[in-house]
Amino acid sequence: MKQHTLQSQVAIEGKGLHSGQDVCILLEPADPGTGIVLFREDLAPGMPIPASWRFVVDTGHNVTLGRESVSIQTVEHLLSALSAAGVDNCLIRVNGPEIPLCDGGAKYFLETLSRTGLSGQEAPREYCQIRMPVWVEDGDRYLLALPAHDLRISCSIHFRHKAIRYQACHIRMDAKTYLHEIAPARTFGFTGDIEVLRRRGLAQGGDYDTVLVYDENGPISPDIHFEDECVRHKVLDIMGDLALLGHPLRAHVIGHKTGHALDVEFVRRLAAEMITVSDTDTLERDREFASFCERMNL
Ligand SMILES: [Zn+2]
Repeated sequence: MKQHTLQSQVAIEGKGLHSGQDVCILLEPADPGTGIVLFREDLAPGMPIPASWRFVVDTGHNVTLGRESVSIQTVEHLLSALSAAGVDNCLIRVNGPEIPLCDGGAKYFLETLSRTGLSGQEAPREYCQIRMPVWVEDGDRYLLALPAHDLRISCSIHFRHKAIRYQACHIRMDAKTYLHEIAPARTFGFTGDIEVLRRRGLAQGGDYDTVLVYDENGPISPDIHFEDECVRHKVLDIMGDLALLGHPLRAHVIGHKTGHALDVEFVRRLAAEMITVSDTDTLERDREFASFCERMNL
């Protein structure tokens, strides 16, 4: 598989979830090997902030990337969509503090990318692979990655809230499955928590259409996209946080009660253990393994 970038530039506008500010982002094609790189156009237009775990500065209620005193909040849903669409190289120019929330999930981003179109580049795509299980845990929360040929994510959540309780989801990741099963799943929250966040200057944007809001009795947002929308959104977030590795991961990721802080710690652990391979390497290794089996009469 070759690396891919956008066929042309495309702009996306909307309000940030936490800042509540109107923001415009411009997605631009980039050369092979660039990766996903963000720029804070209003503060430091010449300073690249790579979408990498090395540049994560906050994981409190979103993922914030930063460099020196410049930061960009809530990158996870856009990174999730770019990763699912198979975009390897892209420049993201942001004229405010945060990536817009748009529909609260990743569907709008993904549809915009598919309308814009991708183009193949003259360089092989590289993948992250692990040879041993890798995991992180924090009390009853955990994330585990097992070696696999493609990306699968299994996730479960457990909330005391009677309308959620236990939800579980398993997905073998490809763009079509992601578009239908994961991308429409929105950020969710509880009225009590939202009040606390608002007093702290967070959650200033978003409404009942873009955030799935629960009060003590159940959802108060007018529509639910899936019965298990919350756990599907967790998968969307994991996908976005895994994008901070810099290349698509080939592994089976299994998580319980995940969140951005744990996800990013997991990504750091994966980065320490993984190897980077291209399809050519994989083919070469498969050929070596086949000839080994032949020699051994296996
Ligand atoms: Zn999210």
